[in-house]
Amino acid sequence: MNKNNYHTHTTRCYHASGKDEEYVKAAIKAGIKELGFSDHTPWHYDSSFKATMRMPENQLDGYIESILSLKEKYKDQISILVGLECEYFEKYIPWLKQMLEDKKIDYIILGNHYYKTDELHDYFGTPVDEFHLKAYVDQCIQAIDSGLYSYIAHPDLVYYDQDSKLYQEEMSRLCAYAKEKDMPLEYNLLGFMTHRHYPNKAFWKIANHYKNKAIIGFDAHSPDALLKDDIYQQAFNYLSSLDVELIDTIQTLKK
Ligand SMILES: [Zn+2]
Ligand SMILES: [Zn+2]
Repeated sequence: MNKNNYHTHTTRCYHASGKDEEYVKAAIKAGIKELGFSDHTPWHYDSSFKATMRMPENQLDGYIESILSLKEKYKDQISILVGLECEYFEKYIPWLKQMLEDKKIDYIILGNHYYKTDELHDYFGTPVDEFHLKAYVDQCIQAIDSGLYSYIAHPDLVYYDQDSKLYQEEMSRLCAYAKEKDMPLEYNLLGFMTHRHYPNKAFWKIANHYKNKAIIGFDAHSPDALLKDDIYQQAFNYLSSLDVELIDTIQTLKK
């Protein structure tokens, strides 16, 4: 099992720190064999909406160029991939598909943060009602069906009473579908390290039941996050104690 990481941000999303190169240096120091950058994707909105948690569209080419140059510079020490963390915004998926065809993007991961589009400010990570819990799972399933995403980041991001019957049912629906379609689920180290409501035991008990594929993602928002080996080891040991299938590589986009 290699220590790889496909969930890495950069300062372009306005809530991360450190130069791109510092992430690469930290990854090498941490013994990471393959590092994927997956900063928050831009979206090409219909409206004049300006998101404050993702890179603006005009920074995308610079992001790709920066990572490609680091890939070349450090090729003897580490393998580097260019990725993005993308929501599933149905109305903007045609734009996303075209962008992925046009640009040198190796892979994308699903960060199912918002209902429909962030123009509506309807975030899944704060306590939600029944409707949004179901919509969260529906969007994950649509994303899986698109065939675009390499894995589901923080699949347990949706915030709902974990002891409720409905949560059990909906997360079972998600895990069963992910299993059927061979879609890996991420164990999110940022949430684990900062004691967020995810990753949560109720969810992973369900993933354990369905024997899902699982992958560890640092969700690094600073270079030093990659150096937290104790956090990684705790997650590794926990997942190893479950019946999930822990994997260390991803499938990239077919081009
Ligand atoms: Zn995310
Ligand atoms: Zn992230």
